[in-house]
Amino acid sequence: MDYYIRYIDLPYRVKGVTVMDEEGFFNVYINARLSYDCQQKAIKHELTHIARGDFFRIEVLEKIETM
Ligand SMILES: [Zn+2]
Repeated sequence: MDYYIRYIDLPYRVKGVTVMDEEGFFNVYINARLSYDCQQKAIKHELTHIARGDFFRIEVLEKIETM
C-alpha cells in the first residue's frame, strides 16, 4: 500500500490522522508534539486502519481521533 507519513503539530489529544486523497493515496499525519514512542504507536495504529481497508468505508473514517 502506498502512503506518506508526515509530522505536523496537532492538538495534544490527537495522535494521528489518516486522510485518503483523490488518487487513493494515504497521507498519515502524526502529531509532532508526541514523544518518539507515542509517534511509533500512532503510526502503527494508522497503518492498521489502512491495512483493514477502513478508509474505504466512510462510516469509520476518522478525521480526528483520540485513541
Ligand atoms: Zn483509529
